[in-house]
Amino acid sequence: MNTMNCEEARELLPAYGDGELDLPRALALERHVDGCADCAAALRALRALRQALRSVPYHRAPDALRARLRASLLPAASVPPASVSSNTRARQRPRRDWSRWAMPIAASLALAVGLNFMLATQREQDSLRDELVAGHVRSLQAGHLSDVVSTDQHTVKPWFNGKLDYAPPVRDLAQQDFPLLGGRLDYIAHRQVAALIYGSRKHTINLYIWPAKDGELAPGGQGSEGYNLVHWRHAGMEYWAVSDLNAVELRHFAELQIVAGADKAANAPNT
Ligand SMILES: [Zn+2]
Repeated sequence: MNTMNCEEARELLPAYGDGELDLPRALALERHVDGCADCAAALRALRALRQALRSVPYHRAPDALRARLRASLLPAASVPPASVSSNTRARQRPRRDWSRWAMPIAASLALAVGLNFMLATQREQDSLRDELVAGHVRSLQAGHLSDVVSTDQHTVKPWFNGKLDYAPPVRDLAQQDFPLLGGRLDYIAHRQVAALIYGSRKHTINLYIWPAKDGELAPGGQGSEGYNLVHWRHAGMEYWAVSDLNAVELRHFAELQIVAGADKAANAPNT
């Protein structure tokens, strides 16, 4: 049985992680890793690093960056033979134990990527909220609340036909004290969207609806510039309710919308 020492093992780990090792060497490495906590930790670190690189949400590292990272992290063995032979200095230099800092790098990379992603998402959300509130305010100020004025969902719903590439669900909540007042096209987040207008005593609610990219989301509230917003996703649609109505009632409105949608789906699947 050929035994492998730590140095040999470390040299082979990257290729092993890539599934590029031949079977005898892979088996020998596995035997070593099984009995060597240090090399097992190094393998875990390497995998964590790869995972971090792979899980980058939108900004997948370009091939060049991946290659650079790899070259800087991994021993000369993983560098293509041509560059090794042309760079004997690198070869003679004592091998750096990359595994010691692979984990911290993986962690900080994941953190940086995650943070960046969170900040980008946060910025997107902020600007979306601003747009929604602006749309709400505009609709109230310009006397342009509704393009179609009707308290009848069977008038408002077909009005959107041909104006949008989706059919917004239109629910009347008059019995729950949120009467439907009409509908309007608005322009939010670079697209035309449906805005339904509901009343609630002296308040007006703009309910923006467009197709959702993500799964279900329970109604969640946020405030912005004196207005309340409640956001949820249900049955493939994104909903944003904006109003100067208080947060509790606006969330109640959201819940009624979801309940009405469920009732509707149960009673008449075609409408
Ligand atoms: Zn070892």
